Amino acid sequence: MKAFNYFAQKGEPRIGVKMNGREYNFTYLWQIYKDFKGAHQIPGLNFLQVMVEMDYFSQENFEEVMSTIQEFRSLNDLVIREDYRLDVPIPRPQKILCIGRNYIAHAKEWKSSVPKEPLFFSKLQSALLPHNGHIVLPAGIGRVDHEVELAVVMGKTASHVSEENVFEFVAGYTIAIDVTARDMQGAAIKKGYPWTLSKSLDTFLPMGPYLIPADAVKDPHNLNLKLTVNGETRQEANTGEMVFKIPCLISHISRYITLQPGDIICTGTPEGTLPIKNGDHIEATIEGMGVLRNKVVEH
Ligand code: MG
Repeated sequence: MKAFNYFAQKGEPRIGVKMNGREYNFTYLWQIYKDFKGAHQIPGLNFLQVMVEMDYFSQENFEEVMSTIQEFRSLNDLVIREDYRLDVPIPRPQKILCIGRNYIAHAKEWKSSVPKEPLFFSKLQSALLPHNGHIVLPAGIGRVDHEVELAVVMGKTASHVSEENVFEFVAGYTIAIDVTARDMQGAAIKKGYPWTLSKSLDTFLPMGPYLIPADAVKDPHNLNLKLTVNGETRQEANTGEMVFKIPCLISHISRYITLQPGDIICTGTPEGTLPIKNGDHIEATIEGMGVLRNKVVEH
């Protein structure tokens, strides 16, 4: 089961759900369900982020809505038949936190050590880019690399969470590419400056296409992830290879920063981070999460 945000033909935002190979207009499904059930507290659901913030985003809830409706009408006329444009799963997260050097082989390829505790930085919300969007390289930016990562979306407010309880606070998972202006980052590090800019250029955070509910993912630490450029495999690994796993990452962050529903944590990239150039077609996949496609263009 996969959920997504999309813009219908007239530009209205909608939630879509993909189940058994068919895509349904969940915003419409929800209206029918709400009317059938009588008064309900949740207003119109047009964005996955609203579902996440209401703590309502789960496979169980999607299935409950669909099976309830199926009892009295066919779902056939609720299949999405129009062309649509995808949006990122969470367009306005309060925070996007990323982990550096969280796969041993990736740390080694940059001749870096693995940090003793998780190394965090942040990317700006304005860098988010949906499926099929163009990664824009400004002229003269130098080397820019791809980094495929598993992104975790928080579902509940989390402060001082212990490692054992972390998954109660997770809403779901998606695919992210932590695009990095490597030359710019290197120059900043050399001077002892922060590297925010090199990580947060516009379009430097492709994400999606789907948000997978946490209860639909058996083990987030046993997922194959892969990135290809023009069909050639550049990165291939398993999320089980992370040095600091999701319980450690969330528990650690939540000691210092209160995480909110919709906040995103990018969990680091495996080895094989290589440059991208004008005209490249990038495909990032994580097992069971679809394919995130983006093209690279030069400004
Ligand atoms: Mg990264």
